[in-house]
Amino acid sequence: MILFEDALDLVLKHYRSTEKECVGFLDSAGRILAEDVFSDIDMPPFNKSAMDGFACRMIDIHNDLEIVETIAAGKFPEKSVGLNQCSRIMTGAKIPDGADCVLMVEHIENIEDNKIRFLKQSTNPNICYQAEDIKKGDIVLRKGTKIKPQHIAVMASVGCTKPMVAKKPVIGILSTGNEIVEPENVPGLSQIRNSNGYQLITQVERAGAIPYYQGIVRDSEEDTYMALTKAIENSDIVLLTGGVSMGDFDFVPEIMIKAGVDIKFEAVAVQPGKPTTFGVHHKALVFGLPGNPVSSYIQFELLVRPLILKMMGASSLYQTVKLPMDEDYTRRKSERLSWFPVIITDEGTVKPADYHGSAHIYSLPAADGITSIAIGKDIIKKGELVDVRQI
Ligand code: AMP
Ligand code: MG
Repeated sequence: MILFEDALDLVLKHYRSTEKECVGFLDSAGRILAEDVFSDIDMPPFNKSAMDGFACRMIDIHNDLEIVETIAAGKFPEKSVGLNQCSRIMTGAKIPDGADCVLMVEHIENIEDNKIRFLKQSTNPNICYQAEDIKKGDIVLRKGTKIKPQHIAVMASVGCTKPMVAKKPVIGILSTGNEIVEPENVPGLSQIRNSNGYQLITQVERAGAIPYYQGIVRDSEEDTYMALTKAIENSDIVLLTGGVSMGDFDFVPEIMIKAGVDIKFEAVAVQPGKPTTFGVHHKALVFGLPGNPVSSYIQFELLVRPLILKMMGASSLYQTVKLPMDEDYTRRKSERLSWFPVIITDEGTVKPADYHGSAHIYSLPAADGITSIAIGKDIIKKGELVDVRQI
């Protein structure tokens, strides 16, 4: 049995980078940027007014000012502003030559048809200066960024309409078990519905990869071998669930070896998910995840999701927030690192969710995240900070 931290290191060490592809920038949302994005212009591209008001010279602000022009956003100023002159200007419009400040419209009074007076003692320049945000040629988005709407805005502003992103890895999914039936069926007396397969399909999609669901595999060595070799041929990562425990029909690790997979670990000092198995084939990386739905879910989030992100070159593989416990949390045995589902309260504290163990499928939907308690530790005190990973 290896430590969870060593298991994660081993998994990440065996990553294989996916290729790059060029996509339309709107389709790049949720993808991982594969090349830096540079700006083709200064931002702002010219000195622009931050306010609706009157552009003039700072030295003239206590004098009556004659209005020489009205400059709407998008209009190129025709007149320069001289001694005791100003141009009426709108937010976003280019500052006319000669002017070095904008008086806010709220701070002036009209004294004649085309004359104004400033009512305050002083003013800020109220100008957004050319290139103060970004200079032409600057990197505006870094390779490895997960693309969100705010990144799409930056791409739009620098004309990057065809970014390079990492190709999505293909993740083969197999659900093993003679007792498993597909969800549309009513289970017989000794059967249960396949929840893991569908949970994994959506976890894979959420991680930014392509699920390749291959159905239910019977607990026979032959069926498992056939299904596994086919999955390895067609995927970058293969996920099997079930068949990794100590039962008479749990021969996933054995079949992995037969299929040419070099097993790196078969047991991890973690709870839930102790029998999680990982191995390397030259065609694909293979995980045997436990059959219990909570174990499968959590081990995917802890081991598989960071691997998928690393294969796509993501700069952040997981994010945690530190929050205080709302109450004492205790456990009886402490020989494994243990993860448990938690609820984040409106006050920003962390409460353990109702959780009866790895088969308790209803515990996760009620939870906001998972947190862990280290080996050798049997209590987390109220107020102690814990790392919460959102799920
Ligand atoms: P196993 O690791 O095959 O011994 O499975 C452990 C437990 O998880 C058993 O109770 C299985 O019935 C259950 N299980 C296995 N596969 C699935 C699945 N695809 N969906 C829901 N439960 C499963
Ligand atoms: Mg089984």
